[in-house]
Amino acid sequence: MKEKIIKWLGLDQKSEYVKNYFYATNMRASVYMSVVVVVLEIWMIIRMTNTIIGLDPSVRKPLSYYFQKYYLNYMILLSAGTCMLIFSLRFIKGKKDHPQIGIGVKWLFSVICIYFGITISLNDYAKGEQILTFLTMELFVVCLLTWQPIVAFLILSSSYLYFYAKLNTMPPPNGELPGTTIATNINLFTMWLSTLLFSFSNYNRTLSQAKKDENLEEINAHLSRISIYDELTGIHNMVWFRSEAEKLMNYVITDKENMIFLFFDIENFKSYNEKYGFHEGNKLLKKIAVMIDQAFQGSLASRFSDDHFVVLTSTQGCEQKIEALSHEIKCCQGEVHLELKCGAYKPAGNETDPSLACDRARFACNSIKKHYDCVYKLYDKSLEDRFQLKQYIVNHIDTAIENGYIKVFYQPVVSTSDGCVCGLEALARWQDPNYGLLPPGAFIEILEEYRQIYKLDQCIIEQVCRDYQNAKAQQQPFVPVSLNFSRLDFELCDIVGFVCETAEKYHVPQEYLDIEITESALTDQQNLLQNAVKKLRSVGYKVWLDDFGSGYSSLNVLKDYQFDVLKIDMKFLTGFSSNEKTKLIITNIVNLTKQLKMVSLTEGVETKEQFEFLKSIGCDRAQGYLFSKPVPLEILRQKIEANELQITEKYQKI
Ligand code: C2E
Ligand code: CA
Ligand code: CA
Repeated sequence: MKEKIIKWLGLDQKSEYVKNYFYATNMRASVYMSVVVVVLEIWMIIRMTNTIIGLDPSVRKPLSYYFQKYYLNYMILLSAGTCMLIFSLRFIKGKKDHPQIGIGVKWLFSVICIYFGITISLNDYAKGEQILTFLTMELFVVCLLTWQPIVAFLILSSSYLYFYAKLNTMPPPNGELPGTTIATNINLFTMWLSTLLFSFSNYNRTLSQAKKDENLEEINAHLSRISIYDELTGIHNMVWFRSEAEKLMNYVITDKENMIFLFFDIENFKSYNEKYGFHEGNKLLKKIAVMIDQAFQGSLASRFSDDHFVVLTSTQGCEQKIEALSHEIKCCQGEVHLELKCGAYKPAGNETDPSLACDRARFACNSIKKHYDCVYKLYDKSLEDRFQLKQYIVNHIDTAIENGYIKVFYQPVVSTSDGCVCGLEALARWQDPNYGLLPPGAFIEILEEYRQIYKLDQCIIEQVCRDYQNAKAQQQPFVPVSLNFSRLDFELCDIVGFVCETAEKYHVPQEYLDIEITESALTDQQNLLQNAVKKLRSVGYKVWLDDFGSGYSSLNVLKDYQFDVLKIDMKFLTGFSSNEKTKLIITNIVNLTKQLKMVSLTEGVETKEQFEFLKSIGCDRAQGYLFSKPVPLEILRQKIEANELQITEKYQKI
């Protein structure tokens, strides 16, 4: 209740914005008001002067009489009006300093206006004329300007009371007894009330408009903040970076010779996230962002994406700063080995595209990934050819698919029990007219980086299904094919839906398609992949865990997901003959697989000795160059016809 009254009286706390809004509204209104007053006063002075000049010299009083009685008032009001006009015009022109003086001038002007209104109207009343000047001035002051309700009430009530008291003691012009008539009292009261109500409503209207504008302003400020700042780290984002970098690259005066783009990557950041959780990961990311921002103060720095940052700076002292940063980051690493990697690119004088420059710096950065203790790499001619290939791949994936340059090579998987082929792995190849046969190592990562990988995987699914259909039509044997899915397929498209539809279109039974998902894919976005794996299994596909043991959280993955086949990474077979531990580890993994009721498959089998060992420990399947490299389907058929490979009896007929 108390709060309501305080609010109603206009005594509640107001934000700086609202106060400024009121001030601006009053300053704008003052312009009109003071112009009217100034013009009116000049006109009054001229009129009075004319009247005095026109008077018969015998009745003309001394000039001091007129000055005291009329001119002085006109002059006072004229000066106050001029002051107000000057101040409000300054404000309109954008000079918003000294608001206290502005408020003082407004008060002075208002008091003088009212005083003038009272004096003139008392004179008029004595002459039997109407009291219009007083009413006009009240309207001017209280309705054109905006006051807090309590102030408006005080100004109006005191001036009306004073005026009324004066009137009440004046003898009316018609010689009757002193005192106002009932009609005058009622008129005065009605005027007081209506101006008061008008001023209240004016105040409330201005207040609500001010608040509305304040909200809008806040929303705008927020929008413009998030449009150029990165939400997580608080440093600038790429929208800002690109536009500022473009301006710099286009300025004639920029010292382009010494300009350098830096791309930062925090190697192993993913492992840090896995070990300490996303919350801690984000905290570290913020810390690193601030470090980079501060290390390159005065240059352009922003977050590129994930744990990647870009900087546009001067070459001078740049390597020392990177060295220092790398050291600082190592201090925050905890138990995970974090390493700062920085790729740099010096644009040529005529280059103006910051995105391409960032891409090149990033490329240089990626080229030193996994190179222990190598922090900095400047983009040079040797990287250019590889970079061109990358650009080529990104720009040509669609045409490569359309023109049939993407081919499926098949690598057999054999059963250790009889050495017969019980499956094939579909592996992509890009047969390019310019570059020749490209292995997946040349394009998979790039397509993932540019989020185009799903196109390739869909193309492979379709070709495998078509191969099945053709085999069936020609009454050729066919064995189940395992397809490699990228983690991004689940994000970028409905890959599960796509497999189901395509299999249906080519009449491929579920048992002829298996899905391989690599272990590293399963560490982020748990829910998305967990649901996808469940869905794939629920519609009848077998899901294989690929590259088991190559990453950080292999055992966790086994705990959280259900798989049908476990593919033991080929790195376990390296050092097979020299390291006794290798055999022990593989044996244990195979046993674990059995306990978890999964089929075990070891990849990268290159020697007979390895195969015999796997067979002896009960590993169910094997895959590797010992049986065949990945080859086109026709070659595989020839091998089967030549009896180099045999197909498991079950699949000899479709
Ligand atoms: P991966 O799924 O682990 O595939 C096995 C890779 O090991 C193949 O390389 C294969 O040629 C190679 N390999 C097989 N046996 C042996 C062996 O005895 N010794 C050695 N040293 N290597 C062997 P490839 O075909 O170059 O494929 C590389 C990777 O590219 C694959 O690894 C897979 O992750 C990815 N990839 C291939 N095709 C596709 C695809 O269609 N979609 C997706 N998303 N990824 C694919
Ligand atoms: Ca695979
Ligand atoms: Ca693999």
